[in-house]
Amino acid sequence: MTLRNRSYVVPAQVKAAAKQKNFRGPNGNEAIAYQWIWKWDLVFSKAEDGMVDAKVSDWDNAATCSTCNRKIVHVYWVKKQDGKIVPVGGDHLHQLLGYPKELGHGQLRAIQRQVTDLDVKRKEEAGIRKRYEQIIIQREADSPGEANKKLMLWSRKAGISIPPVGSESLDKMWLVNMKKKKIMRTAGLAVDRFLSMYPDWERTRNIGDVLKLWGKR
Ligand SMILES: [Zn+2]
Repeated sequence: MTLRNRSYVVPAQVKAAAKQKNFRGPNGNEAIAYQWIWKWDLVFSKAEDGMVDAKVSDWDNAATCSTCNRKIVHVYWVKKQDGKIVPVGGDHLHQLLGYPKELGHGQLRAIQRQVTDLDVKRKEEAGIRKRYEQIIIQREADSPGEANKKLMLWSRKAGISIPPVGSESLDKMWLVNMKKKKIMRTAGLAVDRFLSMYPDWERTRNIGDVLKLWGKR
């Protein structure tokens, strides 16, 4: 099999990343993820004067650079214009993205960092999403009264103080899910970010109208 036609096992999280906004090079190829292939191992720690568990590069499960065929554990995944996703090492990443072969070390690191940052941002977003999902489970309700009660229960458990009803302006207090006919009080949510992640939910225009529409009043 020639190097060009070789196919690679693409991790699921890398495939998922390919659907998002990525780092596009001058030739149209896109870097979509960075991956460090690691494992737990016992290593000597000077500070603790003994063996400790630590993450170390896992060369037994290394990937292969699609450009030079060398083993790599710091892997950049690039989606080519034909849709094929290939792994590449840090020293060949820029070439696959269409940058000139001869680049200074500083420029090379800058390109690598943009891809590594993509990964960090995604991890952050995944963390936020997980938190919001828990909030939805614990707070969505069938009526404003029930939503308020659930919010108070949740806030007591979480140790978060929530402004009482009446201290917020009414139109800003509720979120509704028109499809599921669910209501949630907005208190304690970064609402804009929440709404950008959950298109099913929206700010209420008028909670009375919404309830009437649902036949609840
Ligand atoms: Zn290479």
